[in-house]
Amino acid sequence: MSYTETMNVEAEVEAPLAEPVIRTEDLTALDRCDQCGAQAWVHAFLPEERELMFCAHHFRKGEDKIRAIADFVKDERWRLLEAPPRTQGED
Ligand SMILES: [Zn+2]
Repeated sequence: MSYTETMNVEAEVEAPLAEPVIRTEDLTALDRCDQCGAQAWVHAFLPEERELMFCAHHFRKGEDKIRAIADFVKDERWRLLEAPPRTQGED
C-alpha cells in the first residue's frame, strides 16, 4: 500500500501580527492540576502556547512564580466559593 503525503504550501497565508488570542474557556471537571491531578481551578497561559493548570492549593503555593512566567492567568477559584456547601458529618 503506498502512502503519498501531499504538502500544499502554496497557499500559505501570512497573517498580520495580531494580539495573541487567548482561549478562555471555563475550566471543567476534566481539567486537572498538573501537579497533583486534583480538579484545576486556575489556568495559566505561558509563552509558546504552553499551558499549565493548577488546583487552588498548588496555585497558591506557586502563585508568584506562575504569575511571573505566565502571559495570562485565568483564576476561577471564585467558583469554589459558589459550590454548594458539603453537609458536615456525612459518612
Ligand atoms: Zn494540585
